[in-house]
Amino acid sequence: MAFQLDGFTTDLLEQISGNGTATDVDSTNMQQLYADATASDGTAPIVALFHALKNAKTAGGPGYEAYGLTRENLVELCAKHVEIDEHSVTIGGRVGRALEIITDAGLRVKDYLARKDTEAPSGIQLWDKILENQTRIKSVLGMTNDDWNSFSGQLGNCIDNTETLQKCLDLPDDCIQDVARITEKYRMRMTPYYASLIQPVPNDPVILQAVPTAEMVDTVGEEIPPVASDHSPVRLVDQFYPRVVALKSTNICAMYCTHCLRIAHIGGSDRTFSKAAYQEALDYIASKPAIRDVLITGGDAFMLSNSSLRWLLGKLDDIDHIKMKRLGTRVPVTTPQRIDAELLDILEESNDKKPVRVVTQINTAQEITPVSRQAFKDISKRVSAVLNQAVLLRGINDSKVKMWHLCETIQEAYIRPYYIFNCSYRNPQYYHMRVPIQKGRDIVEGMYGNISGDAIPRYIAAAGGKIPLHRDNVQGREDGAVILQKPWGGEVRYPDADPEGYGNDTNFAFNQYGKK
Ligand SMILES: *Cc1c(COP(=O)(O)O)cnc(C)c1O
Ligand code: SF4
Repeated sequence: MAFQLDGFTTDLLEQISGNGTATDVDSTNMQQLYADATASDGTAPIVALFHALKNAKTAGGPGYEAYGLTRENLVELCAKHVEIDEHSVTIGGRVGRALEIITDAGLRVKDYLARKDTEAPSGIQLWDKILENQTRIKSVLGMTNDDWNSFSGQLGNCIDNTETLQKCLDLPDDCIQDVARITEKYRMRMTPYYASLIQPVPNDPVILQAVPTAEMVDTVGEEIPPVASDHSPVRLVDQFYPRVVALKSTNICAMYCTHCLRIAHIGGSDRTFSKAAYQEALDYIASKPAIRDVLITGGDAFMLSNSSLRWLLGKLDDIDHIKMKRLGTRVPVTTPQRIDAELLDILEESNDKKPVRVVTQINTAQEITPVSRQAFKDISKRVSAVLNQAVLLRGINDSKVKMWHLCETIQEAYIRPYYIFNCSYRNPQYYHMRVPIQKGRDIVEGMYGNISGDAIPRYIAAAGGKIPLHRDNVQGREDGAVILQKPWGGEVRYPDADPEGYGNDTNFAFNQYGKK
């Protein structure tokens, strides 16, 4: 029975056939490849022959006839290739199509691969430099190794005033003066560990998240009341949805982010909430059988003591209709020293009863160091998922290279990218960090087909619930805002960052300082 060629192979044979003459040397080489292909019981020599024929022809050389090969010779090898290949892949499919498709696909990521390690290095790649910073900061603050490696040592030495800031980071005087002006009104705090991630480059993506600049107090705009103002049915609880609630368990964070959506709620000082407040929240949750998922947030859930966390998770696990819990925390990024054996045990105990997910916030690959990666690895072994909610922020992750590398780097650190938030319009304090909606969409949609599917987050606007910024949900624009269709019903007006003006002001953030 004659071997049946498929379309890809017929095309390939057509392509490599033709007139012309070959040199003796070329003929000898091609004959040798043919002999190898005939003798071998693998596919590689067959592929090599067809490749050579195709390349010769593409380069303007003659068809296979010129090398003394016949169509019958080649068809015989085609049949042999199909027979050997486990999935009956034809030589036409492999040489004529697949390898070309892969080459073309490679071109889509060529630019990203060339730029990611220099434009958006991870904290693992920068580790030597971070270690140098650690040595310097440790000595400036008079910290011992034990201080450095403990949570209490990190918090006890946190950088929360201009004097310490100036000692730890070499910032221009006018910058320090502005920080002094801003911290009269808003809190600044970062751990020495988090400060050690900062690199001496203009608008470093870590310093932008931790040290406020003049815009925070100088930008004029209306502050929209926080979510809690009309979404809090009971103390400590925010609720948009019938089946998920957020329990704001503390107002404390190990570092305060310059882009904090909860800035109003964080307030001016650390507070401990009373048992009575927790009890009212728990009573409410217990009285609503529709609620199944409780998001313990803050502030930062890992700023609760181990005993409080164990108590709270236990109370939630005791409620029949609560089927799962989430813990919102940035502590593994800012203060990985917090992740102790007891905390891990608490997570596992509760996860054994009903799933626990840890939801974190990492905005740049630079925040993933060997230490934070280890913390996430330890956590991921004890819970059902570790998810990331990044905020799209100017200068921090507002390019394809930065955001793709963030998503890939966290995935390599046992974390699943979950959401990317368009930075909210609620607070003029961080208007300057906002990125236009369309820019974020280009960055996220560009990921499809180019990085692992489960490294691709959903792009979201937080506007009375989380609205995916799919084209279908964006109903139109008016006066600098988009009208969003909420998937569950209704429309909402969501002011956008100005797409025209975006990126034009060269004095953005730290670029305005140190100039005479
Ligand atoms: C973010 C948030 C949730 C959780 O939303 P998911 O889309 O389920 O992640 C629930 N309640 C409130 C108040 C929130 O802010
Ligand atoms: S960790 Fe979250 S709640 Fe705390 S300051 Fe940062 S953004 Fe705000």
